[in-house]
Amino acid sequence: MSEPSAPIRYFCPQCWAEVAAQAPRCAACGADLTGRPAYRQALEWALRCPEALTARRAAYLLGRLGDRRAVPALIEALKQGDPYVAAEACAALAQLGGKTAWSAVREARTHAYATVRVVALALWKQHARSS
Ligand SMILES: [Zn+2]
Repeated sequence: MSEPSAPIRYFCPQCWAEVAAQAPRCAACGADLTGRPAYRQALEWALRCPEALTARRAAYLLGRLGDRRAVPALIEALKQGDPYVAAEACAALAQLGGKTAWSAVREARTHAYATVRVVALALWKQHARSS
């Protein structure tokens, strides 16, 4: 007797809708599923992954990547969803630096989630001390 095999489910890397196995495009958002997105782009999409741990890892990696083009996506992640994703996005913004990123960190000191406020406040204090 063989084990029933679990079906593999596929998800659009851009909008996270479930897609058919060999689908060339996502039916929900129209994303091209035939190629591989650039690394930074894939991480920015991963910020919207419904699995918070994946989104959080993406935020962390975007901070480490050091490419300020990720700032708008991180600001979006900071403003919505899971508090731990938002806190990680806040830390990534501080790591990337620049006027826009620091402005978002400053604003996050009054974030709805205490988890985010604590991170933002600590980062902002450190930033204010060093500049
Ligand atoms: Zn999609």
